[in-house]
Order: sequence, then C-alpha cells, then structure tokens
Amino acid sequence: MVQELKKSIRDVPDFPKKGIIFKDITTLCKDPFLFQRMVDLLSHRYIGKGIDLVVGIEARGFIIGAALAYKLGAGVVLVRKQGKLPHKTHKASYSLEYGKDSLEIHKDAIKKGQRVVIADDLLATGGTAGAVAGLVKKMGGKIHECAFIVELEDLKGRRKIAPHPVFSLIKY
Ligand code: AMP
Repeated sequence: MVQELKKSIRDVPDFPKKGIIFKDITTLCKDPFLFQRMVDLLSHRYIGKGIDLVVGIEARGFIIGAALAYKLGAGVVLVRKQGKLPHKTHKASYSLEYGKDSLEIHKDAIKKGQRVVIADDLLATGGTAGAVAGLVKKMGGKIHECAFIVELEDLKGRRKIAPHPVFSLIKY
C-alpha cells in the first residue's frame, strides 16, 4: 500500500526554486481510495492513545490534521503563517528547506497536559515541525508524535524534532 501511495506523489523539479524537487501530494489527495488509505494508515497508529488534539501546520498539514483529528475523535488546532490568526498568539521563527518564516498558534489553543500529535505533509530539514514542537511544549502540551506523509531522510529533519518521536509513511 505504501508503495502505491509513493507512486501517486508527483515530483515537481525546480519548485518553488531551482534545485528543490517538490513532492506534490495533491496527486495522492485527489484519489479517493489513496486518500482514504493514507488517512487510515496514519490514524490507526494513534487510535486508543488518548490523543486530545492534532496540530496541523499551514497549509497542507490542515488536510492531514483535520482528517486525522476526525478519525481520532480529537480536536484540531491550526498553526498558521504570521498574521493570519485573529486572536492572541505565540510565535516561533524557523528556517525552511527553501527560506525563512514565522508561525503562530493561538495562546489558548492547547491546555497544559493535553496529548498532541503534530501533523504536516512533509518533513524536510525539520525546521518547521521543530518550531511547532517548541511552541506546543512551551504551552504545556505533551507531544505524542509528529506525523508526516513524506520524509526526506537525507535532510535529517528528525534531529531538529528530537527528543520527540517522528513517524512518516513514505520515505525518500
Ligand atoms: P522543513 O521545515 O525543512 O522540514 O520543511 C517542511 C515544510 O516545507 C513542510 O510544510 C512542507 O510542506 C514544505 N516542504 C519543504 N520541502 C519540500 C519539498 N521538497 N516538497 C514539498 N514540500 C516541501
């Protein structure tokens, strides 16, 4: 199944800039069967683990985060690019495989002790998920795991998220 999912991901060379091979998951998500299998494979890992919240990272992390939260009977929390969230926020800056950015989360989004899964489409350098893990920890959330559809293993993103566990369905 994982091989089928992998085959459905489209490589887009030189996007958003030269030298980056963009792993485009829209070709997986538009397939009803593959989308369902992907969500099932991820969610089965966390069923019965007492997950309170899934934190989805803008923008493709919202798709996975919301589907996962629904399957787990958990809440979904949004981490967004700077200036998008309407209420009071905590902010973290981070570096990306192709740039630098800031992310925000509502200050009241996570209560101390809540069990959290962080979800995004892809783990590259780990800057993004590492920054989000830092925010969740600062707010008192307990990070159960960070979940990704795709991991680019050569970039060693897990190191930036350590000591928190990481799971990815598809590895390159
Ligand atoms: P990083 O912080 O380096 O782990 O980058 C992860 C974030 O950037 C995720 O939100 C991804 O959606 C996006 N991203 C980074 N590199 C790629 C890539 N090669 N293909 C698709 N998305 C990427």
